[in-house]
Amino acid sequence: MLRVTELFRSIQGESTHAGRPCTFVRLTGCPMRCVWCDSEYTFAGGEHVSIDDVLSQVHTFGCNLVEVTGGEPLAQKEGFQLIRRLCDEGFEVLVETGGYVSTENLDERAKVILDVKCPASGEESSNHWPNLERLRSDKDEVKFVVADRDDWEYAQEIIARYQLLTGARAVLISPAWGLIDLEALAGWISSSGLDVRMQLQLHKYIWGAEARGV
Ligand code: SF4
Repeated sequence: MLRVTELFRSIQGESTHAGRPCTFVRLTGCPMRCVWCDSEYTFAGGEHVSIDDVLSQVHTFGCNLVEVTGGEPLAQKEGFQLIRRLCDEGFEVLVETGGYVSTENLDERAKVILDVKCPASGEESSNHWPNLERLRSDKDEVKFVVADRDDWEYAQEIIARYQLLTGARAVLISPAWGLIDLEALAGWISSSGLDVRMQLQLHKYIWGAEARGV
């Protein structure tokens, strides 16, 4: 059984997959406490649902793209089984993980979107660094949520140290919602000349920051 907060169809809002129709499976629970977390409602509650029932609901939505997210989708060991079953059934599977749990046993067919927690998140010490060495340049993406200039400096340091520009399919720089001036961040990125991708959370611009299940 899995603890599931919500299951819905929408469009993918972040990453290089943004804008694509996508079914989301949002699992309950996260061991981290990022200060700017926008999904605290996943920390508790949720419904106990069997993997078979999750799969049948996913089928009813009719999207080939499925994102398993949270909370922290890898915090429940059954999350790994769900991802494998989705891959077995031919879905294109994205896993958006906060980077605390090892991705070592993740089904290799799944595509990883891996967060690196910057200092302003308060969770920098939770980063599981071997996950960065497992990223695959043809599939996996790495995301830095940046809340201030120090976070941007930190992101550049980690990008260089782990050679992420060649080691990952994309390096995503995402502004912490409401905490950073978008023009300033765009300026830092453009003047750096780094081949990273500034991304906005599309779903928040469409449905608002507080909307759930969209
Ligand atoms: S890892 Fe994600 S869900 Fe967990 S506290 Fe941080 S932002 Fe929230």
